[in-house]
Amino acid sequence: LLPIGLVASAILMLLILWVSRQRLSPEKELKLAIRKREFQVHYQPLIELATGYCVGAEALVRWRRPDGRWIAPDLFIPLAEQSGLILDITDHVIEQVVADLHAMLLAEQQVHVAINISARDLESGRFLDVLEREIAKAGIAPGQIWLEVTERSLINPDTARATIARARDAGHLMAIDDFGTGYSSLSLLETLPLDALKIDKCFIDAIGRDAAASVVTPHIIGMGRALKLNLIAEGVETREQDAYVRKAGVQFAQGWYYAKALPADEFMAFYRDYNRG
Ligand code: C2E
Ligand code: CA
Ligand code: CA
Ligand code: CA
Repeated sequence: LLPIGLVASAILMLLILWVSRQRLSPEKELKLAIRKREFQVHYQPLIELATGYCVGAEALVRWRRPDGRWIAPDLFIPLAEQSGLILDITDHVIEQVVADLHAMLLAEQQVHVAINISARDLESGRFLDVLEREIAKAGIAPGQIWLEVTERSLINPDTARATIARARDAGHLMAIDDFGTGYSSLSLLETLPLDALKIDKCFIDAIGRDAAASVVTPHIIGMGRALKLNLIAEGVETREQDAYVRKAGVQFAQGWYYAKALPADEFMAFYRDYNRG
């Protein structure tokens, strides 16, 4: 006769094995990850071309699974947007940016961090309450937080306009992301209260590579200039692309040519080293 304790623990083991083999749906996994705070924000330096200084960073979220695997945002942001879970992720990103860079944002009054805002966030506007609460708590100036909305997220222009106006009234700067890849007309962009345009990487990739595509790049830059907005080139990878955007009068640039997205402490070290010259 087997001792009762042994039988019980064997059954328990089998049960644990069975439960752990049941795969959660991707949405449930995402929900669990939000609850367990498995997201981490990395910071990609932003360079002011005229001065050569690093003036800030873009906050880019990553999912770190319990097994140590990193999951890129392209793989979970679309599901998060579909399911509405993006609202919680945005809140978490805001909280983490303020916590990560609190000391730096207070000491370096010029540095700013750009946070990506989705179409759902624009619709809900909830992130603005979170942002206001977090920066007030930390004593950070609103102008140190920039916001990026993609051209594609302007599906509902009236709601977008209202939230963008609210954000600017609160003191944040607004940039249109992935400029040139969406369907928004210049006349729509003209009616939005904006500060900057980020020229999509595909137009930067074309520089010095694809003759047909690089015909378009000067026009995209020209359109941005016609809107009288600050221009930011994203995805600059080569010296040739850096020279091109400089010559074209683009104010800011981001890309692997300068630096990849870095964990908070590495970004702070980068900022100090880079600006010391
Ligand atoms: P994005 O906003 O256009 O961000 C730029 C992406 O290009 C980032 O990828 C960045 O790491 C990558 N990148 C920057 N420089 C270079 C370069 O020189 N070469 C190449 N090949 N890539 C470069 P990442 O971090 O994988 O993010 C992908 C997208 O996921 C972002 O595109 C953005 O749309 C979305 N995303 C990231 N973080 C957030 C977030 O916190 N909230 C929301 N709503 N979306 C986010
Ligand atoms: Ca962005
Ligand atoms: Ca972008
Ligand atoms: Ca892009």
